[in-house]
Amino acid sequence: MADISALVAEIAARMAALPDRGRVADYIPELAKVSGDHFGLAVITADGTEHVAGDADTCFSIQSVSKVFALVEALGSCGDRVWDRVGREPSGSAFNSIIQLELEQGRPRNPFINAGALAVTDLIANRTDSDGSGIGDILRLVRRLAGDDSIAVDGAVAYSEAATGFRNAALANYMRAFGTITGPVATTLDVYFHQCAIAMSCRQLARAGRFLAHGGIDPASGQAIVPPERARRINALMLTCGHYDASGEFAFRVGLPAKSGVGGGILAIAPGRASIAVWSPGLSPQGNSLRGTQALEDLAHAMGWSVFNPDV
Ligand code: GLU
Repeated sequence: MADISALVAEIAARMAALPDRGRVADYIPELAKVSGDHFGLAVITADGTEHVAGDADTCFSIQSVSKVFALVEALGSCGDRVWDRVGREPSGSAFNSIIQLELEQGRPRNPFINAGALAVTDLIANRTDSDGSGIGDILRLVRRLAGDDSIAVDGAVAYSEAATGFRNAALANYMRAFGTITGPVATTLDVYFHQCAIAMSCRQLARAGRFLAHGGIDPASGQAIVPPERARRINALMLTCGHYDASGEFAFRVGLPAKSGVGGGILAIAPGRASIAVWSPGLSPQGNSLRGTQALEDLAHAMGWSVFNPDV
C-alpha cells in the first residue's frame, strides 16, 4: 500500500511547479479575483484518515460541484420524478449550451450541465411542501454531510453571478416555456446562484463526498444518506457527465466518478477507497480545473484507483 500522505504532498509539490495553470474563470467577476496560484488536495480514505496538502483548508466557490448535492436533495424529496424532466446522457456540449435544448424539446441531457441543474434546482426551490427555503435545504444537507455548520454561501459570489447570469436566465426561461421548469424562474435562479456560491475547503468537500464512496452511507455518522443503488447511479452520472464535454477525456485519464466546478474545485470518488477533493482555480477551455485534473490523474494512477482496474 502506497504511503498516501507522502504521495499527496509529492503531488502538491509537483503541481506547484507546473507552469501551465489554465485560466481562472472571469465570466463571473467575483471569481476572476481569485489567484490562480492556489492548489489544495484532500484525500479521505475508507478508515477516515485525512491526507491533505497545500491550500486544503482554504475555502473556494464550489460552483457546479453543488449540482451533486442538489441532485441528492431533489432525489430525496421527489424520487424518480427528477427523471421526468432531465435525462442521463452525456451532453457532449458546453456546460452552458443553449442549442441542444431547442433541438431536444427543452429537456436537458443530464443534471450536471447548467440546464439540467436548473431543472433539478427548480424542483427544490418550488416544491409544494417547501417553506420557500430551497437554498437552506441544500446548505443543511452539505453541512450535515461535511459535519460542519460553519459552511456558508459567499454572498459576494452569489450577487456577482446573479448580476451577470444572463445565459442561465435564458436557459431557465427557455425551459419554463417547455414546462421543464414549473415554478417562478426568478426563484429557481436565485437558489441556483446561491448553491453555486457555497464556499468550502477541499477538506470539507472531501468529507461531504464520503457517502458516495461507501454505498450511500456516511462513515463519519453511520447514517444512510441515499440507498446504495442511488449512490451507484450518482457515481455513474458523475463519471459520464461530471466534466461536461470533457467527461470522456476525464474518464480516459483519471477513471473516477467526479464533478468539477468553474471555481476550480473537483470532487472525485474512488468507490470503496476514498473521497477526494482538489482545488486549483485555473481552468481548461471546457471549464474544468487544469491542475486539479492532472493531480487526480497522478493520484489515481499511483494508487490504482481507476474504477476500470480489475482489482477494484
Ligand atoms: N455557476 C456557474 C454557472 O452557472 C457554474 C458553472 C460551473 O461550475 O461549471 O455558470
